[in-house]
Amino acid sequence: MKDNFVGKLFVFSAPSGSGKTTIVRHLLKQEKFNLEFSISATSRDPRGDERNGIDYYFISLKEFKNHIKTDHFLEWEEVYRDNFYGTLKTEVERIWAQKKHVIFDIDVAGGLRIKKKFPNETLSVFVKPPSVDELKIRLKKRKTESEEKINMRIAKASIELATAPQFDKIIKNYDLEVALKEAESLMSDFLELKE
Ligand code: 5GP
Repeated sequence: MKDNFVGKLFVFSAPSGSGKTTIVRHLLKQEKFNLEFSISATSRDPRGDERNGIDYYFISLKEFKNHIKTDHFLEWEEVYRDNFYGTLKTEVERIWAQKKHVIFDIDVAGGLRIKKKFPNETLSVFVKPPSVDELKIRLKKRKTESEEKINMRIAKASIELATAPQFDKIIKNYDLEVALKEAESLMSDFLELKE
């Protein structure tokens, strides 16, 4: 089956707190999708129990800027002030070499850039939260960011929500179980898997 493997890219983008990470983690557990997570590089500090080389490649701002200069990124963004995030070209190469499809948990601008670079191979999905107020509640519950950082994320969310129509598909994450099923169904369709 894997001999005529054609690598695909699955982009899940959304404002912070929309639940896209939960959706991506769920999809990664489904063997039938044959997925591997694209580990982004970031200049921000690790949070909670995040591990280097698993959740992110945590690198210094200096290293990050060097990668930009040497054109090592497929896409990168200064998602928040002085917090850089990017997908290294070697990530996609690493995953396709394993004959697996790539799944990304990245911001809206980065997601659209990947789609533009690989239009036929990419399914871009926007995960929509019920409302900006609900986002605020979720981010507060998560207790991983300061009040100031939460406000920064909320301010960005309104701008990000406006980009939803540019994505191939939109999943409304109002009820997690429903959203997970919808995500699975989109994946199956794109990979042309028989149910
Ligand atoms: P967090 O700090 O919560 O892990 O991530 C902040 C935002 O940056 C999230 O929207 C996350 O999806 C996004 N992000 C993570 N990795 C990348 C990446 O490689 N490129 C881009 N453009 N955004 C990313």
